[in-house]
Amino acid sequence: MAIINNNGIILTTAEEVLSWGRRNSLWPVSIGLACCAIEMMHTAASRFDTDRLGIIFRGSPRQSDVLIVAGTVVNKVAPMLKLIYDQMPEPKWVISMGGCASAGGPFPTYSTLQGVDRIIPVDVYVPGCPPTPQALLWGILELQKKIKAKKEGKEFKEIPIKQAAPSFPIKK
Ligand code: SF4
Repeated sequence: MAIINNNGIILTTAEEVLSWGRRNSLWPVSIGLACCAIEMMHTAASRFDTDRLGIIFRGSPRQSDVLIVAGTVVNKVAPMLKLIYDQMPEPKWVISMGGCASAGGPFPTYSTLQGVDRIIPVDVYVPGCPPTPQALLWGILELQKKIKAKKEGKEFKEIPIKQAAPSFPIKK
């Protein structure tokens, strides 16, 4: 916790500063799987400009702490996606962007993974087909809230997957 004394000087702990920096400088790995990735690129481009929020896309999973699963996860690509997740250093987080990543979307077929949380843990589900850049920004801000709540030992209300992707059938 930060305290401002009578001289206007902020007193806090090194741990608090590190935690603040970590949650406000999320670096997603640059990977897109399908049409949702176009919206993800749009979010990073000049109109929405995630750089101003400290969100900078990196070219290597080893330099990233967020995996945004943007698009349809087919069974053929699932092992590669898992490998990328495994190569990211701890602590790391996952945002499932769109109906396909969250629940298979409009592809309830044998070739499509019916939810990326079957292979990697998901922290935030962003609904939509595709989600708008504003929706993805909302998801990133939710993730920041979740990181802060976890650090402070508070409860973070998870978003149920049925609310995240209500328009698609969810296979059990
Ligand atoms: S959720 Fe919609 S926009 Fe996103 S990858 Fe699936 S079909 Fe494409």
